[in-house]
Amino acid sequence: MTTWLGVWVNVPNYSGLSNVLTYSHPEPLVPGTLVRVPIGQRLATGIVVETQTAVPEHLDTGHLKSIAGVLSGLPPLPADWLNLARFTARYYQRAEGEVALNALPASLKGLDDRQLARRLKKIVPIDAWSAQADLGPQPHLTQEQVAAVEAIQNSTQPILLFGPTGSGKTEVYLRAAQACLIADPTAQILVLVPEINLTPQLIRQFEARFGAQHVCAMHSGLTPALRLHHWLRAHLGHCRILLGTRMAIFASLPQLQLIIVDEEHDASYKSQEGARFSARDLAVFRAHQSKRLHPCTVVLGSATPSLETWNAALLGRYQKVALTQRIGGASLPRLRMVDMQRQHKGTVIAAPLLEAIQQRALKGEQSLLLLNRRGFAPVLSCGSCGWKSQCPNCSVFQVFHKRDRTLRCHHCGFVQRVPHACPDCGEVDIEPIGKGTEQVQEHLVHALESCLTPSGHPLRVGRLDADTAPNAQALETQLAAMHAGEVDVLVGTQMIAKGHDFRRITLVAAINPDGALYASDFRAPERLFALLMQAGGRAGRDRELSRHGEMWIQTWIPEHPLFEALANHDFAGFAQRQLQERESAQLPPFVHHALVRAEAKTQEIAQGFLNDAAQAVATEAIALGITSYPAIPMTTARVANVERAQWLLEAPARPALLQLLAQVQFALQTSASRRRINRWAIDVDPLSI
Ligand SMILES: [Zn+2]
Ligand SMILES: [Zn+2]
Repeated sequence: MTTWLGVWVNVPNYSGLSNVLTYSHPEPLVPGTLVRVPIGQRLATGIVVETQTAVPEHLDTGHLKSIAGVLSGLPPLPADWLNLARFTARYYQRAEGEVALNALPASLKGLDDRQLARRLKKIVPIDAWSAQADLGPQPHLTQEQVAAVEAIQNSTQPILLFGPTGSGKTEVYLRAAQACLIADPTAQILVLVPEINLTPQLIRQFEARFGAQHVCAMHSGLTPALRLHHWLRAHLGHCRILLGTRMAIFASLPQLQLIIVDEEHDASYKSQEGARFSARDLAVFRAHQSKRLHPCTVVLGSATPSLETWNAALLGRYQKVALTQRIGGASLPRLRMVDMQRQHKGTVIAAPLLEAIQQRALKGEQSLLLLNRRGFAPVLSCGSCGWKSQCPNCSVFQVFHKRDRTLRCHHCGFVQRVPHACPDCGEVDIEPIGKGTEQVQEHLVHALESCLTPSGHPLRVGRLDADTAPNAQALETQLAAMHAGEVDVLVGTQMIAKGHDFRRITLVAAINPDGALYASDFRAPERLFALLMQAGGRAGRDRELSRHGEMWIQTWIPEHPLFEALANHDFAGFAQRQLQERESAQLPPFVHHALVRAEAKTQEIAQGFLNDAAQAVATEAIALGITSYPAIPMTTARVANVERAQWLLEAPARPALLQLLAQVQFALQTSASRRRINRWAIDVDPLSI
């Protein structure tokens, strides 16, 4: 008996093919089964989503091809996984087949049944988890931690675990996972972390507690073979705890009962390519979805939650659980402000801050200096004619890197030698404007030259940014040097603020955080507050040292309320003010945004393409109460000689937005000017507009 199967394949939906293709097969297959199917002249992997014995309507079955092979060695993908892919595609405006197939490990997709069988043989089945055999040593919990674990066990809502750095959130994650496994030794737990650099630390903690055989990792640093191996272990239920970055949200976990999203506010949870999904938001959906099959809770942890999450907790949609004390009695750092208006012109580091750094180094303590700009100076300029180091390919300046005497574009990668004289007027005196990490490091080395540490060596000033740590391994080496006390002062970009647990740091300084306060991006203050709280959390995690932990801010606007909230470690106050501003300005989370971006040879073409689509959906937009703004150039309008434009849609409610976007898709796909567009994409809930 012939059956007709609907199969997801990875064909982008604007190629003219539907993403569900129909094939024939001698027998029905369960939805979620992986198959090999012919597409044109090639074979591709697909996922069965429908199966029926009646001849499909409107289909000329005589021309239908048949399935080329079934990956019968693999259990079908679970129904809640298929729903997750479906939801992601619908919400983020991509094809279901594209989302689903991209969520599978690349090396799974080339395999036929025989090759798959060989991979499966390598997987040693692991006995279920056992509390007696596997549980490692456990520290004593505070009352707050006990309450948090209980709340997670009993809650039917998403949990916001709110607590400052060092308040013991990780131990709560471990205990919640433990409670989950004690209740059901076959349960699976997904732990999401923002960055691959933070995974090794957390993996070690989970392995120590639950036994290495029960823990798996999934992140971009894995080889394709290892990635497949871990994916298969999770899918077959041989891995209890899966730790990973953004993409791990799509792991197949048939027994998923707890999802933990650490640092839930982190921007790296939002994908910037393909389906622009938020792994944090999908985690909330996935937990809700899996709950139909078995208990499933999601925990969002942060010291500085995103305002979306904070607002959901205020409205009672999420349950807020707070940890207020730092473990071991460590205190939060005291805030010291430096008013840059009172400093000499051209001051890189104000005298009192320099003095404080020096004093700490003399006692063998470390300082961390944060400046979110790498290179020596963001721009070179000629004082005579006003020439600036503009990138020839982009609408940004090339950054001056002094060490190798280059001008580098951080957008397109264009590099050139620093000119000896102004290219326009020949003036030899061209000057760096502004400061980057390289300059701050050089300045410190010079200023602290005569200063010796207790062991008699000159102060060592390190630098940590994308130039000195271009890959994860280099980063690990640099961080190890910091841990070992081989560096007295570390200057770096935001990568120094994240998650690293340095015991001897007692001073953290933000050298020039003001940019974010003037930025046109309405999320900039939220990000700055999170970054400064996180950076400040590095100071004094050791109880004794924490008594004189300090956070210094060099600013031109010391009276800014953001700094006041920071001084009081008052996230709630900061969030309240921000939410009020957002409500009165009608910004998220009080409205919902979608951004359509287009790239073309000229702004005119890119904007025209977007405005045409806007025209096509104008009536519907008004009917749905959606505001459609005219297309404008993106903040960085040109990158690598491509002009970029954006069109913003603002909706009072999500369903209305999704309804309109379906029509926007159609308008864009059928647009007459489509051929002149390099690429376009829809970004739902964009992080910056
Ligand atoms: Zn000049
Ligand atoms: Zn460039």
